[in-house]
Amino acid sequence: MVFNFSAGPSTLPRTIVEEVRDELLDYADTGMSLIEMSHRGLEYRDVHEEAISLARLVFGVPDDFSILFLQGGATLQFSMVPMNLLREGLSGGYVLSGAWSVKAFSDAKIYGEAYEAWDGSPVNYSRMPKDFELNVKKGTRYLHVTSNETIHGVQMFEWPDVGVPLIADMSSDIVSRPIPWNLFDLVYGGVQKNLGPAGAAIVFVRNEVFELENREIGRYLRYDTHASENSLYNTPPMFTVWLIGKMFRWIMGQGGLSAIEATARAKASRIYDVLDASDGFYTCPVELGCRSLMNVIFSLPSEELTARFLTFCESSDLVGLKGHRSVGGVRASIYNAMPMEGVDTLVDAMVKFKIENE
Ligand code: PMP
Repeated sequence: MVFNFSAGPSTLPRTIVEEVRDELLDYADTGMSLIEMSHRGLEYRDVHEEAISLARLVFGVPDDFSILFLQGGATLQFSMVPMNLLREGLSGGYVLSGAWSVKAFSDAKIYGEAYEAWDGSPVNYSRMPKDFELNVKKGTRYLHVTSNETIHGVQMFEWPDVGVPLIADMSSDIVSRPIPWNLFDLVYGGVQKNLGPAGAAIVFVRNEVFELENREIGRYLRYDTHASENSLYNTPPMFTVWLIGKMFRWIMGQGGLSAIEATARAKASRIYDVLDASDGFYTCPVELGCRSLMNVIFSLPSEELTARFLTFCESSDLVGLKGHRSVGGVRASIYNAMPMEGVDTLVDAMVKFKIENE
């Protein structure tokens, strides 16, 4: 067994993986695996509907929102959002807070009028903007934010309140804290970090969105298609949805989103505390108040030391810690399923490595 700090796909609770192993060959005494069955059959229907109702329960999603499971990951949402919502005279403002929001923005420009509401590149994406820094133009249909920048380790703790609906890519911090639904028209996230294996994005859409939706696009690309078919318009990612349901049950067993959030804070502070007490041996480029609770990024004094640190960690069964290739350094992704024991083992390794290598 190792502690897997990978940014996604990432670690899942051991108990869930074991449960899947046990149920995989013969689902509920049917003599076959769930993933071999028709997605229109009763067994899968139950699994599918349960996953959606648990999502509603865990997040306290209001009735006027639809919950969708879509394929194409969060990346397809970079296109689906502007395709569906932007039209003549309506634009999308984008908060550019790191690599993922830049990607979302560059896709949006293909489909409609999208503009930079804030650009974090001059500060090397080391923080999120304050409301007064946001440039929100007239005719803005939505402000797109990336609640947690997985590569740059920056997280949004204060939602912008600028008089337009928010749309958020929450891929890397979904299910880590409650969501104030009144601010959002749409929330999406790839599920392969906090919510299951790869294969789907979970999308929450305010039903009003369908009324103004663009109908000049393929049916698969329209949100109303999936909402009216309860995400069964075509064959859904059944294995992934099955695990998402199990993960929601696991989250409820942990005490729900507020308890999950408290644990996330406790785990992240252990690592940030060691960084801050290291006299500059470990440095985090992210400003205080914006440091991610999910992806802790830091660097060591040299690339050579970084490489040795990563090897040292691997020898202590701490894997997946290499920073994203575009920024280098170290990245500890500590999603919900990373136990405190994993964080403690990492922290011990950091302390030991510093003493031996200063
Ligand atoms: N947004 C964010 C914040 C991400 O972290 C990622 C994946 N790491 C994506 C979007 C893209 O997700 P997917 O691979 O599911 O398309």
